[in-house]
Formats: sequence, structure tokens, C-alpha cells
Amino acid sequence: MKQIQHADDMRFWADEQRSLHKTIGFVPTMGALHTGHLSLAEAAVRDNDLGVASIFVNPTQFAPLEDFDQYPRPLEEDLAKLETAGIAAVYMPTAAEMYPRNFSTYIDVEQVSQGLCGGSRPHFFRGVATVVTKLFNAVKPHRAYFGQKDAQQCAVIKRMVRDLDMGIEIVEMPIVREPDGLAMSSRNVYLTAEDRKRALCLSRALFDAEKKLRNGERDGGVLVQGVRDAMRNVEIDYVALVDAETMQPIREPIRPVVLAVAAFLPTARLIDNIKFDPNTDDAGSQTGSGR
Ligand code: AMP
Repeated sequence: MKQIQHADDMRFWADEQRSLHKTIGFVPTMGALHTGHLSLAEAAVRDNDLGVASIFVNPTQFAPLEDFDQYPRPLEEDLAKLETAGIAAVYMPTAAEMYPRNFSTYIDVEQVSQGLCGGSRPHFFRGVATVVTKLFNAVKPHRAYFGQKDAQQCAVIKRMVRDLDMGIEIVEMPIVREPDGLAMSSRNVYLTAEDRKRALCLSRALFDAEKKLRNGERDGGVLVQGVRDAMRNVEIDYVALVDAETMQPIREPIRPVVLAVAAFLPTARLIDNIKFDPNTDDAGSQTGSGR
């Protein structure tokens, strides 16, 4: 597996592969890789001639008091996991190269970035859209793989790629869960044993709502209230039923919707969601066994 640090070298490698008519599937990550990340890497390897992953803890998507410094960085283990997944090249730029002095160009994706995580982390999607654009410019992928775990992030990237004619296919992969239902996250390592138990109420509340949706419940207010009630032992950031494409609140799930939650536990902020399409009755939310 090739390890590449500089954008010029990454572009050179990508140009070379493209000139050989190889397709590139790309998985951007912040490292601390778990099975969820690896499901994206495996899909990128399977669906393309070459899989490329990046590891970059992006400072511009963290607010000053968030966990940038603490964020886990087990680099050697991450590299071994990517190699096992069959990744051909890993791009690991430095923050100094990504954000040189006087860096002043950012991407703001309007509408989709508002509300949900954009409400409680106003800096977040601007940082994500900007870094993903820079990574796309270096890796030059044909396809890029993102997790439904970060459903709003997927919607933001899809909108950005469409609006800016980036010509990259965005593939959204299902949420990988722990056997008991908790959505895998690099931040789960922060959880104390007690918080880990309390965290289960997020997925349980969502699975319960999913059952109600499958049984025909179409009142968004009832669904949201049910989830809020089931999450009474954690500090709720948001519970929202939104249109899956625009991420704007919707009262009745007549189009594909996302029921999304975020909660502050003492040791970590967690997010989770389910998707539901009333036309296919396909909730498509998980590959784990915790249901
Ligand atoms: P991160 O390293 O947290 O920025 O995540 C990198 C990519 O992995 C993003 O597209 C995430 O949505 C995706 N991802 C994170 N957790 C999961 C999970 N449990 N299942 C599937 N994909 C995930």
C-alpha cells in the first residue's frame, strides 16, 4: 500500500492511474478506523480498480472547545487495517500543508447544512465541505464512499458535488452497528461503561420508531415525541424528522426521510439515524445484528 503525504504526489499518482484507465474509489476518514470505516474501504476496493483512503483529522471542522487534540490517532493500526482491506494508496496530508498561512477559501453548502448538526456545530459543514473538496482535488476519484451514520454530511457532499459539477459519484453506505445496536463511531472509545449503557437508548429509540413507520405511523410529531421519550436519560441535542435530500424538517414522511438524533453524554456527543422510504418501505438503516 502506497503512503502519500503531499497533494502534488497524490495528484501525480491519480493522474497516472487515470491515464491507465483505472477507476478510483475514495474513502475519506479521520482515522481511528472501525468496522464501519472498513465497510466503506471494502466497497471502494470491490467497485473500483483501485481503492484510496485518506486519514486526516481536519482542524477546520472542530470548534475551539471540541475534541481535536484528544481525537484518537492510532496510525499504525489504521494503516494495517487499510492494507488488509485491499486499499492501494493512503493519503495522509499534514494540517500545515492543507491549511497554509493565509488560507482563505471555504465552501458553504446552504440549506442542507442548516439545522441538525449544523445547528449545534455551526462551523462543522463548512470545514467538512472544504476539506472534502481539497481531498477530491488531490485524489481525483471516480466514486467516493460516505457513511449514512453521518446522514447530513452525505446530503451536504451530494449537494456540493452536484452544484459544483465535480463529476464524482457519491455512494452512501449503511450504518455498521455493534451487536447491541450502538452505531460504531471513533468517539465511542470516550464512553465510560455507564455512558456506553445509556448510549443504547439512541438506537433503541430509532428502531422503535422504525417499527412504527413500518406499521404505518405517518405523524412526524408522534414519531419524534416517541424518540424523545425513549431518550429521557440523556441530554438531547436534537431529534428531527427531515427530508432525506434537503435535510429540512418534514411533518409527514411522504418522501424518503431521515429520523436523526444527537445527544450529549458526559463523555461524548453521539449521533444516529434511520432512513425510511414510504414508497419502498425500505428503512435501509443497518448491517449490524442489534435489532
Ligand atoms: P470519520 O472518520 O468519522 O470522519 O468517518 C469517515 C467515514 O466513515 C464517514 O463517511 C462516516 O460516515 C463513515 N462512518 C463512520 N461511522 C460509520 C458506521 N458506523 N457505519 C458506516 N460508516 C461509518
